Amino acid sequence: MQRNFLWSGVGEGKRDHLVSWDVVCIPKAKGGLGLGRISLRNSALLGKWLWRFPREGSALWRHVILSIYGLHSNGWDANTVVRWSHRCPWKAIAQVSQEFFKFTRFVVGDGERIRFWEDLWWGDQPLGVRYPRLLSAVTDKNIPISSILGSTRPFSWNFNFRRNLSDSEIEDLESLMRSLDRLHLSPSGPDMRSWSLSPSRLFTVKSFFLTLSQIHGLPSDFPTRIVWNSQVPFKVKSFVWLVAHKKVNTNDMLQLRRPYKALSPDICMMCMKHGETVDHLFLHCPLTMGLWHKLFQLAKTDWVPPRSIFDMLSTNFNGFGSSKRGVVLWQAACIALIWVVWRERNVRIF
Ligand SMILES: [Zn+2]
Repeated sequence: MQRNFLWSGVGEGKRDHLVSWDVVCIPKAKGGLGLGRISLRNSALLGKWLWRFPREGSALWRHVILSIYGLHSNGWDANTVVRWSHRCPWKAIAQVSQEFFKFTRFVVGDGERIRFWEDLWWGDQPLGVRYPRLLSAVTDKNIPISSILGSTRPFSWNFNFRRNLSDSEIEDLESLMRSLDRLHLSPSGPDMRSWSLSPSRLFTVKSFFLTLSQIHGLPSDFPTRIVWNSQVPFKVKSFVWLVAHKKVNTNDMLQLRRPYKALSPDICMMCMKHGETVDHLFLHCPLTMGLWHKLFQLAKTDWVPPRSIFDMLSTNFNGFGSSKRGVVLWQAACIALIWVVWRERNVRIF
């Protein structure tokens, strides 16, 4: 919204975006317009709604959102997979969810609303991510903690595996049980969600904003891993590197470099609309978005389209699991998607 406001001004038609949005967002002292801080503050404010949603069970606004988007598979939140055609405030809120959820975790009470394998409640990652082999052997991946652990020590374990475990899986299981030895449950209260960025464990806009500013201010975020460690041909790697740096010759770049030359109208050859930018072509273009959605569907992973292709490459989606093979496969799939879109775009132009 800010972006369109900045460049469209009054009058009709779409105006050119003369300076890249990233440049606009860097602090004024560095030649930008300092808008980044405003958009991050906005994101932090939107986070408040994500925090309130599961806490305000009877509020009218919650019922409205719930009836439109349905419940997230975790049973706490509204669905964050919002079709990109929807124009609704919740879409903007859902776009913050990926960053928001990084800083939330569950605090176990009676264990009835927290999923043992899928939710983050113990250690640094969900147990299903830490022990993928065990996860693949259980009957019910969504099983709540209370159905697996009894409330008192020594815990009664009820994993309900659907087959006999292999030796290595038994090792995993032993390691899991050892780690849970340190767990203390307080089964008198209900399960809660806590916010890891503030000492009170309650969400504050300020803590979220400060952290978002840090995340988006550091140039060291460059997604080196996917760009250079992926197992794809070198020329494809170099291309993805250009994409991450937004240095691909999309129409907008060409126009910037050769301002004297009037290019055919700046349209995207894939959807025949919009300006062709790196983020549009490789991410937000309806055609490309369809491909990304297919890929995520294939990986059975929830996602919200990030702001930019850079963010997309920087985010660790674990689409095909966190094993080495899964990571390599996922990187190759993402890169192949980008490569295919570029090839198709060039075929259509030349
Ligand atoms: Zn397009």
